[in-house]
Amino acid sequence: MINIKEIRKLFPILKQKVNNNKLVYFDNGATTQKPISVINSIKNYYTYENSNVHRGAHFLSALATKKLEETRLKIKSFIGAQDSSEIIFTKGTTDSINIVANSFSKQLSKDDEIIISELEHHSNIVPWQLCCEQSGANLKVVPINKDGELNLSVFKTLITKKTKIVAISHVSNSLGTINPIQEIITISHNMGAKVLIDGAQAASHININVKSLNVDFYCFSAHKVYGPTGVGVLYGKEQLLKEMHVYQGGGEMIKEVTFKKTIYADLPHKFEAGTPNIAGIIAFNNAIKFITDIGIKKIELHEKILLDYCTSELKKIQGIKIYGTASKKTGIISFNVNDIHPYDMGVILDKMGVAIRTGHHCTQPIMHKYNIPGTVRISFAVYNTKEEVDICINAIKKAIIMLS
Ligand code: PMP
Repeated sequence: MINIKEIRKLFPILKQKVNNNKLVYFDNGATTQKPISVINSIKNYYTYENSNVHRGAHFLSALATKKLEETRLKIKSFIGAQDSSEIIFTKGTTDSINIVANSFSKQLSKDDEIIISELEHHSNIVPWQLCCEQSGANLKVVPINKDGELNLSVFKTLITKKTKIVAISHVSNSLGTINPIQEIITISHNMGAKVLIDGAQAASHININVKSLNVDFYCFSAHKVYGPTGVGVLYGKEQLLKEMHVYQGGGEMIKEVTFKKTIYADLPHKFEAGTPNIAGIIAFNNAIKFITDIGIKKIELHEKILLDYCTSELKKIQGIKIYGTASKKTGIISFNVNDIHPYDMGVILDKMGVAIRTGHHCTQPIMHKYNIPGTVRISFAVYNTKEEVDICINAIKKAIIMLS
């Protein structure tokens, strides 16, 4: 079991009151709160370490570079990559997916196909639409069933020798579904297609091992794993990254520049043009340490207990409809009550100190599928408690009375 009291002490923001009520923060799918070690790391960097990386001869530059590269090593072991050169620092999941989609747009043509799914975040839809616009490739979409699970039989009929890349989320941010990515990767590889997994909603909740998955690309954002905003990871197999077109040009990503020709830097710097978010990357190390100190298995178990408890309490509420009832889920619950608009529910819950998200959650195709404008979404992190679930359930009951 985890020591929830000790864990909560590490998050100063959780002690705050909101609208005169104890804050219950259930919007972790949007972004998690940050432990004091992450906050202190950012302060410490700007107080004692600030310098640009990778090109300075002086002490501070060497220190900042060392610490930035330590984070790369930490990420490498966190996701089980073969080599730290396979870890590219980006601005976040969106940026990571755009790098791959942009590069593929230069190598695909009108006979090629890309497969995504109906439950993707807009970040894993729009870059592929752009890729298709630029290359002429066709976009195919794997449907979901009523529980919010991918229909693998349809996937098997959609994938062909023309499919060059399959881009699927590990976990759905709207429904919480954990997708069978191992199966998807094997099927795709058998057909000769590469696979990109959007791990934005997985990395702080379930174990990831890119090597045993044999996945080609894996992306996630630091801010959803207790780290700072503006930092993310693109993992790619070394050979694929080597073959890929560069995304942005500029400083840091070159070996030699002349007006005739530019020779690009080796991995990972080839994809890291410009000055990165150095403070953020260094603090990201502390965020991963926070997760590994507790242990991802323990986090998973704790969040599963919250998911099961909250789901069963919600089900007792008359008129509730839960969207996303997959057999394998992380701690995300989307729902509506009767015809109450999710936004109205969100505003009333906020008055009682409960922070949840409402709307389409950047997954409009899912909302179209269920024919709803949006949902109320509860999403858990390791610092959440059963007591908070009780507060939230009571607040929902009060809101229903007020809005009915
Ligand atoms: N994919 C999924 C599944 C997400 O939940 C999110 C963020 N809500 C993203 C991609 C985009 O992440 P970011 O905004 O950090 O780039």
